[in-house]
Parts: sequence; C-alpha cells; structure tokens
Amino acid sequence: MKDNDIRLGAIREKVEAGHRLSFEDGLLLEEHADLFFLGELANLVRERKNGNFAYYNVNTHINPTNVCVYRCTFCAFRADLNSPKGYVMTDEQLLGRAAETDARGATELHIVGGLLERDRAGASGRMFRPGPIIQAGAPRARTS
Ligand code: SF4
Repeated sequence: MKDNDIRLGAIREKVEAGHRLSFEDGLLLEEHADLFFLGELANLVRERKNGNFAYYNVNTHINPTNVCVYRCTFCAFRADLNSPKGYVMTDEQLLGRAAETDARGATELHIVGGLLERDRAGASGRMFRPGPIIQAGAPRARTS
C-alpha cells in the first residue's frame, strides 16, 4: 500500500471517530484525495449531524446595476453609466423582480452588482439602496 493511501486511511479513521482534521490533513486531502473519497467523508459527517435529511434553499441572484466605478481585470459584467450596456434598475423594477422571485418560491435572494458613485446613483441622484426595496418585495426570503 502506498504511503498516501495509508495517510488517507488514517484521515478516514479520524473522520469516522469524529475527530477534527488538522491543516496538514486538509493539504493531503487537497493534493491526493479523489472526489469520491471526499464525498464519502463529507457524507459521513453530514449524516452524523443531520441523519437522513438534506436541506436546500432556493437561491436567486438580483443584480441591481452593472455600472461600476471599478475595473477589475477579470470582470466581464461591469459597464460605464453612459454605455449602451449599462443599466441601473429603478425601484419599481427591483420591487417587481423581488415579487417575481417571491412568487416562484425563492428562499434566499443574493444581491450583487456594480458599485456606483454616490452622486451618480440614479437619475434623481437618490441614494441607491436596493436591499430594503428587494426585501419589501420578497419578505419571506433571506437576503445576502
Ligand atoms: S462589478 Fe465587481 S468585479 Fe466587476 S469591476 Fe465592479 S467591483 Fe470589480
């Protein structure tokens, strides 16, 4: 038996015994364990904690704007305010989108988008705070 197999076996024994894994155990798992081995260990812990239950949420993303003052090199999402691609959702659009996701049974709304300059946050110069509007449209969902 190879050295890594022996070490992975020792990790399995720790998980089965309910012992906490070390940082070094994590490195070994990252470098040498296959997905099935990891899934098996994860399922052992999940079943120990939750029995035969699995929990899911219904997550929807809302992107209130793609206009952003930053220019992260990896980002294909952002746009300038005056570009044809740029958009900033109105309060009514936010409310409608939130109500739509609520009607579809969303349990979590993830709000993420570009970062606006404070004084260009909307046509009226209002503060752009989409969170409370979205929460009003989907009161049962958790926002993040
Ligand atoms: S939208 Fe986000 S990722 Fe894209 S440029 Fe702005 S801060 Fe960076």
